[in-house]
Amino acid sequence: PEAASLGGVVLTARDVTQRREADEALRQSEANFRALFTDNPQPMWVFDANTLQFLEVNEAALEKYGYSREEFLAMRVDEIRPSSEVGRLKETLDMEEPRHFSREWRHRLKDGRIIFVDITSHRLTFAGHPAVLVLAQDITERRELDDRLRHQAFHDTLTGLANRALFRDRVEQAVARGGRGDTSFAVLFIDLDNFKAINDSVGHTAGDVVLCEVARRLRAALRPSDTAARFGGDEFAVLIDVLTDDGTAIHVARRIADSLNHPVEAEGDTWFVSGSIGIAYGSHGAESVDAVLRNADVAMYDAKRRGRGQFAIFEPAMHESVLERMAMETELRQAIARDELSLVYQPQVDLRRARITGVEALVRWRHPRRGPILPGDFVPMAEEAGLIADLDAWVLRHATAQVRAWSEAGIRPISVAVNVSSKDFSDARLVERIAATVAAAGLQPAQVELEVTETAAFETGSAGLALTRLRELGFRVAIDDFGIGFSMLARLQDLPVDRLKIDRTFVEKITFGEDEAPIVSGIIAMAHSLRMEVVAEGVETSEQLAFLRRGGCDYGQGYRLGRPMPAEAIEPLLRDRAAAPPSTEGG
Ligand code: C2E
Ligand code: CA
Ligand code: CA
Repeated sequence: PEAASLGGVVLTARDVTQRREADEALRQSEANFRALFTDNPQPMWVFDANTLQFLEVNEAALEKYGYSREEFLAMRVDEIRPSSEVGRLKETLDMEEPRHFSREWRHRLKDGRIIFVDITSHRLTFAGHPAVLVLAQDITERRELDDRLRHQAFHDTLTGLANRALFRDRVEQAVARGGRGDTSFAVLFIDLDNFKAINDSVGHTAGDVVLCEVARRLRAALRPSDTAARFGGDEFAVLIDVLTDDGTAIHVARRIADSLNHPVEAEGDTWFVSGSIGIAYGSHGAESVDAVLRNADVAMYDAKRRGRGQFAIFEPAMHESVLERMAMETELRQAIARDELSLVYQPQVDLRRARITGVEALVRWRHPRRGPILPGDFVPMAEEAGLIADLDAWVLRHATAQVRAWSEAGIRPISVAVNVSSKDFSDARLVERIAATVAAAGLQPAQVELEVTETAAFETGSAGLALTRLRELGFRVAIDDFGIGFSMLARLQDLPVDRLKIDRTFVEKITFGEDEAPIVSGIIAMAHSLRMEVVAEGVETSEQLAFLRRGGCDYGQGYRLGRPMPAEAIEPLLRDRAAAPPSTEGG
């Protein structure tokens, strides 16, 4: 018994120790359970793997889902799923799941809101039942942010259309859908014809309104299966994924052109927009994406050259000429940016006093491969490509700096004439820009003459207004190539100009007989009666020079009086006080 009792004591003692240990373990495990489950900041629950009934739930879950503990424990797992996903749930539970898995779900809160959750599940035995322990993490915000970022990465922020990356992707998909016989798709490139004018004259707000309206009209002109994109600026693109017949792309192009052809109201003004459209076809499984996009671009370019609101279908023959032109444009843009242009100066000679009173600055471009290109060849290109404003600004900046340098080198003040393209007047800040450039060079406005064409001078709108303002600031204005638009003579007296430059073609005819000379004499007399000065252009012979002096022409410019030459070459002529070229002596 002693042994037994001893044994009993021993047993009892072991028993107590064990119980204490068990109690401790239980407390410990309860503490662990509280820390891991009850107080876990992540929503957690346990549900019965067979009945799907919730068996246990923590505070965070109650708070997140909005139910009381009683409500929660009275539900089954499928009751916190959006009804559309209950089917999916059954499928997953039927599947042989590993003990441990994780996936994304949508859950419905008590208030009806749907959240995205990242679910981690763990199979275990709970109170004797096969059960699943679930840890739910709300990833709604992350998902929304992801979606927003993804949308931003593939869409144009301003118009909400696809961006270039997404568009390319769609075209890639169209190409990849090979093997469908001869079905094909089409890519349209659309470039607005006069957008720069809107943006430049009234600013970006109105420009943005116009772009959004264009985007809206594009969408309206397309079927849901088509993709409309904005590539930036005023460039848009459309993918017509399914061409039902040969005419589909042309039909869509017409519909787009028509829809653009209605005025747009923006910032209190009415704007007339039109677009040039290039069409390129691609076959599923054949073309490279780049080739199709480039072809559409080439066709658009061709359309643009034919005037506003036109469309063109790509043909291989377009390629070479257009690509060459595009390359030239890019090179010209770079030439302007990198100061690769240069200026030559042609003397303007006072015919009575036989001395140089000014120079006309003429731009030159020495192309790295093609050699020298004359302005007659690249100025019209610059005008079409929207580069002329930059080009003329470059010329003005350099010409005024040169005149300033001459005067600092002790040369008497002379005037400089620069050519102002009629396209320059679409910039509403033209006057301010010219004034600022001239002021920056430290010249007086009176030293600068702006040569404009008849069309610009006779225009009553913005160009006429700009010229009037420029003259008020003290600039001098000359009509270049005068005589070509002869019909407008009657209105000459109203023009805001100081000088007429008689076009070379009239001066040329002096040599061939006196028949045309009366026109020259007439222009001189008329200009003088309107208190305008006359400059004869293209004076090439002594005979012409003599005739002009007899007729009282004020100034002459031409090979006979001095060719256009680089600044270094003309400088000695300007230094010489009696600097008239010898040829004027005989006059
Ligand atoms: P323009 O303004 O009428 O310039 C006169 C053109 O006649 C110049 O040609 C000049 O070299 C040429 N010329 C001068 N004297 C004679 C002559 O006695 N006989 C003949 N046959 N020609 C003579 P260039 O430099 O090739 O310029 C051609 C046109 O390009 C200019 O005609 C002007 O409209 C335009 N241009 C030139 N520079 C600029 C510029 O900086 N900006 C703009 N917007 N246009 C420019
Ligand atoms: Ca000129
Ligand atoms: Ca001229």
